[in-house]
Amino acid sequence: MKKNNGQDAYYTIGKSPFVYAGHYCNNRCLFCFEADREFPVKTTEEIKKEVDIVRHNFDFINLMGQEPTLRDDLAELLNYIRGKNFKWFGITTNGRMFAYPNYAKKILATDLTQVGVTVAGHNSRLHDAHTLVKGSFEQTLAGLKNILRFKKERMGLLLNIMVTRKNFKYLKEIIDFYAVLGIREMNIGHIMPLNKTIKNSKEIIAKMSDAVPFLIWGYDKYRESVKFLFVEYPACVFPKEYRRLSFPCLEENPQKTRIKLCQKCDYAGHCTGISKAYLNLYGYQEFKI
Ligand code: SF4
Repeated sequence: MKKNNGQDAYYTIGKSPFVYAGHYCNNRCLFCFEADREFPVKTTEEIKKEVDIVRHNFDFINLMGQEPTLRDDLAELLNYIRGKNFKWFGITTNGRMFAYPNYAKKILATDLTQVGVTVAGHNSRLHDAHTLVKGSFEQTLAGLKNILRFKKERMGLLLNIMVTRKNFKYLKEIIDFYAVLGIREMNIGHIMPLNKTIKNSKEIIAKMSDAVPFLIWGYDKYRESVKFLFVEYPACVFPKEYRRLSFPCLEENPQKTRIKLCQKCDYAGHCTGISKAYLNLYGYQEFKI
């Protein structure tokens, strides 16, 4: 494991509200975009300094990167962040550590305002086939239940559903399952071929237009009770009346490119284009304005 020298090659500290706090993970998700990166081990003090830098530029912050709940000092870091008067602060996690009730209580006692939990299925067969760890679904589900049980009213529990070629056909069942569980915020994100270790990309990366009917179905069914964001799906992959559901990613990304349609697209100001690797895989035909 590389020791941090304060200059992380993969992101510029303070340029985004995200702080890479974790340096290893207890899942091995086959879609993980961090799988081929090396994460430095950061000390508590180093992360606190990053938090201070982020505070100059943002009023919200998220601890992420690999699995931040595997840090022993996570509660200390969150308590430090609480003292910095961010408007909201949260973590992104696979949720497994929250299966331990005392751990869940300890983290939620820091008064963080959002926990984002990532899933790839609604049962062990589907979820564990993505995480490559047997038993991970059962732990994540127990973690979600503990968060729902112990969280304060104002804390947001966000479910990040990752869409792949292996699970897109089950999106109706996945959305139903978590809506019934009590999840009220779902970000449904399309997995892109960003991880160099994905060899057979078409076996893992879904075609966006194949997944879109399921997203529309979920939105139509739960629009009154669940807040949806469809992440990485550009507006031009939706029928006209659903284009506003596209999540407007405002961060310029060198791995994305513009297509011809962008020149006359009403959404160009809110959209940063489409992943080049995705276009290499599936072409341009499914995008229309
Ligand atoms: S700006 Fe380009 S990629 Fe984005 S929605 Fe419009 S046409 Fe699609």
